[in-house]
Amino acid sequence: MKTMTKTEIQNLDSEKIMNTYARFDLVIDHGKGSRCVSVDGKEYIDLTSGIGVNCLGYADEGWVAAVAEQAGKLQHCSNLFYSQPQVEVAEALTARTGMKKVFFGNSGAEANEAAIKTARKYGTTKKGENCNKIISLVNSFHGRTMATITATGQEHYHQYFTPFLDGFLYCPANDVDALKELVSDDVCAIMMEMVQGEGGVLDLDAAFVKAAAEICSQNDILLIVDEVQTGIGRTGKFFSYEYFDVKPDIVSFAKGIGGGLPIGGTLFGEKTCDVLQPGDHGTTYGGNPVAAAAARYVLSQIDDAFLEEVCKKGEYIKEKLLASPKVKSVTGLGLMMGIEVDSDKAAGEIVKEALAKGVMALTAKTKIRLLPPLNIPYEDIDEAIDILIEAIEN
Ligand SMILES: *Cc1c(COP(=O)(O)O)cnc(C)c1O
Repeated sequence: MKTMTKTEIQNLDSEKIMNTYARFDLVIDHGKGSRCVSVDGKEYIDLTSGIGVNCLGYADEGWVAAVAEQAGKLQHCSNLFYSQPQVEVAEALTARTGMKKVFFGNSGAEANEAAIKTARKYGTTKKGENCNKIISLVNSFHGRTMATITATGQEHYHQYFTPFLDGFLYCPANDVDALKELVSDDVCAIMMEMVQGEGGVLDLDAAFVKAAAEICSQNDILLIVDEVQTGIGRTGKFFSYEYFDVKPDIVSFAKGIGGGLPIGGTLFGEKTCDVLQPGDHGTTYGGNPVAAAAARYVLSQIDDAFLEEVCKKGEYIKEKLLASPKVKSVTGLGLMMGIEVDSDKAAGEIVKEALAKGVMALTAKTKIRLLPPLNIPYEDIDEAIDILIEAIEN
């Protein structure tokens, strides 16, 4: 295998790969911990984790060993057969959350598809054919498949691909009255992220979440929480809904759970765990042994002490950022952060400048968004945040 140069890779990419991503000018070659190295040999501190995926950083030793061992033993067997890593991940997730059962897919969008299908089957079989409406929030993000872009409450996503699915209603976040207006006998579920990630790292009000959960339990409406970005320790709790003292009926997760391999899934509570039956739903790769072995390892690392560290590091970063006169606010929970800046420069411009100085960050709407590895060391935090502040201030 010939090693390609940065230019060769970028040229071949623009020629042969569909132009659906606005990529940064960085070709990554390898990484260790929260640092990676480009093909031209430059080192970067990564405050993005591949959009919240590499939660243990690059090439975590235990993770690599777990994946390699499973790859050498059984890489795939289809869901027509049983395998141990899959059931162990399911057991760990249900033990941790009190949820009853899990369906494994490969991504966040698929996790939400399973949630949506389950909610519709629950509503229509229990309360009649019309009980198929799902309320999601304005400014939400739930994925890129047809159902999940429809669930996504942003006009920007509702173009080109008509017809979209029927039966989605959009409620402004934190507006309890609007939510009450939208609720009817035709609603089978209310779906939300506790912190809207792509929407700009916006935390929901506790009162709104509480009210929504009450409306759900009083009306036999399912509460679906999308934990694809917020889940698996990202916010300093295992799932972010734990901050809100609610008990969802369905929880979707993905991103962080595989630590870098594609695995996602959907957790179901008492009411919903037996709704889908053989033939109703499935996927070839879901809970694949190697991806599941990766998830099993990630879950083994996320104990209470680990989560406490996530909270501490989040607070530490927040304090450092807020010491800058150009930082107006820091939203989010744990190590999921949105930075509102007081600057003539747009967030995207600041992020580009930080990248040129060796720090990778993201944007979300008008904010700079940080999703660092959950185990990022303090030395890397200090170095990266100083560089980021420099990019914000200059
Ligand atoms: C990323 C994301 C998704 C979609 O996940 P994919 O793995 O890209 O399909 C869904 N919901 C939320 C909240 C997300 O952040």
